[in-house]
Amino acid sequence: MLIKRGIAVSPGVAIGPAMVFGAESYRIPQQLISVNVVEVELTRFRAALEATCQEIQLNEQLARERLGDQYAAIFSAHLLLARDPQLIEQIESRIRQQNSPEFAASQVLRLYAKRMRDLGGQYLAERSIDIVDLEKRLVRNLLGERREELSNLTAPVLVLANNLTPSETANLDRKFVLGFATEVGGHTSHTAILAGALELPAVVGIGKFLDDVSGSEMIIIDGSHGVVIIDPDPDTLVKYRDSEARFRSHERRLQSLRTLACETKDGVPIKLMGNIEFPTEAEPSRDKGASGIGLYRTEFLYLESNREPTEDDHYRAYCQVLKAFPGEPVVIRTLDLGSDKMPGPLRAAYPDSVNPALSIRSIRLSLKHLELFKTQVRAVLRAAVLGDLRIMFPMISTLLEFRQARMVLCDVAEDLEEQGVPYRGDIPVGMMVEVPAAAVMAEEFAREVDFFSLGTNDLIQYTLAVDRADQAVAGLYRSGDPSIIRLIRMVVEAGKNNNIPVSVCGQMSSDPMFIPLLVGLGIRQISVTPHAIPELKEVIRNLTIERAVSIAERASSLEVARDVENYLWGELKKLCPESMQLD
Ligand code: PEP
Ligand code: MG
Repeated sequence: MLIKRGIAVSPGVAIGPAMVFGAESYRIPQQLISVNVVEVELTRFRAALEATCQEIQLNEQLARERLGDQYAAIFSAHLLLARDPQLIEQIESRIRQQNSPEFAASQVLRLYAKRMRDLGGQYLAERSIDIVDLEKRLVRNLLGERREELSNLTAPVLVLANNLTPSETANLDRKFVLGFATEVGGHTSHTAILAGALELPAVVGIGKFLDDVSGSEMIIIDGSHGVVIIDPDPDTLVKYRDSEARFRSHERRLQSLRTLACETKDGVPIKLMGNIEFPTEAEPSRDKGASGIGLYRTEFLYLESNREPTEDDHYRAYCQVLKAFPGEPVVIRTLDLGSDKMPGPLRAAYPDSVNPALSIRSIRLSLKHLELFKTQVRAVLRAAVLGDLRIMFPMISTLLEFRQARMVLCDVAEDLEEQGVPYRGDIPVGMMVEVPAAAVMAEEFAREVDFFSLGTNDLIQYTLAVDRADQAVAGLYRSGDPSIIRLIRMVVEAGKNNNIPVSVCGQMSSDPMFIPLLVGLGIRQISVTPHAIPELKEVIRNLTIERAVSIAERASSLEVARDVENYLWGELKKLCPESMQLD
């Protein structure tokens, strides 16, 4: 049994067989073969091995010609290994035991690599990488065109990967993927956010562990505590099956709060809305108790499919969300493409970005690709006829940028007017406050915008200079940092002075620990991952405004994030002792 720890990003327990989604995006199948195809599969394995040896020989030759003998020696060593009779016999014997050749080869070579690493020392660790390299080549040759994609699963699995891009995550088949764990990733990476949206237990930022997994093991993913267990022993399995059941009953208890008002103990209403990435999430969000959508991340329309969405694709998606929330606000955030969410065709247009998070992203991209932007805005204004639709621009850093975006809205309204297309032009226009410059200038912005929504995920990233998706700096990514509290206070003040609403839609507001602080700072609207709604409602219903204000005051007086977070955690335990028992 092997226990790995990472960052808990989506709660719940999942138990099932592992599926390794390799760095090269193909899976290592775990199938058994029938007795009568063993000979055929042995022949297929030998052919793939021969093709692999030829590839290596070619590389050896090229390396000798271009780089010299010492580099060619690397491939000579690979070749020696690939032709090692003992190794071949071990793989073939597993095939004779009815394992697929891909699985047999992968398992034997991973075992070799692990034994070499376990001997210790830099030299042997590096040699073990040669074995991993051979495994990749061999499996690739075996799979050939039969590469299996994550979207084509036929049985339940737990996905283990070095990384999953947001679009890969968006395309996970929820029927078969029970949870996932990745080597890289941070707390508020888009992959992590999607895990929550899909309600898949997930752990990210584990560090290197895939080399220790062959793909056949039973796995436990504990997304509430950030633990992954490979090959659990029977006692551990029993324990986790029990906590899986407790988690479900806890969820059922919270779900019973669904029909109760979302207000503090002393009767102050707090508007709790949902963050969604797909229109299909709208109804489930409402069922969890959301009173509107505070953030619809529309860029996922691009990431879900290989083609660019048309105006009608946008329109249909917005209508579907509005239909789930008659009379309630639905905030369409315009495309936040770029950085880790760049669709194929646009990626080619910006190949050399040194730091994509600071480059052509979000509103900058929309303003550079006006046709793409106008297509979306047309759909928003058309759909607005059907309900309380609002529009919000992401990543605004300067007033000029906001004014430019607003101008596009006016242009589009004029076009629709001229064309006689039904639309609504007077919808509320808001902005995300997720760049420190916007928070600092909130007073000026507040005179021109209709509402603010604090995007703490990026606000923290840009304020603390910590990449939100990089596990190497995950320990430095702190929502409780005093600088963040101060920025939130500034934005709330600006909202109050200018009489415009301020909500929080970053992951910080989905974490129950931060609710008393946010309410105490004056926040009365939050938009969160839908599955967090019942738990947050419980916190709110146990809180009075007086207590929230005193918690916010005390938290604001502390100087380091760790002290703030410890303090808030302690307060939460006092507020909701029943929920905390689960930990
Ligand atoms: C944020 O930055 O807090 C936010 C809500 O936007 P996203 O997570 O989509 O970047
Ligand atoms: Mg953001």
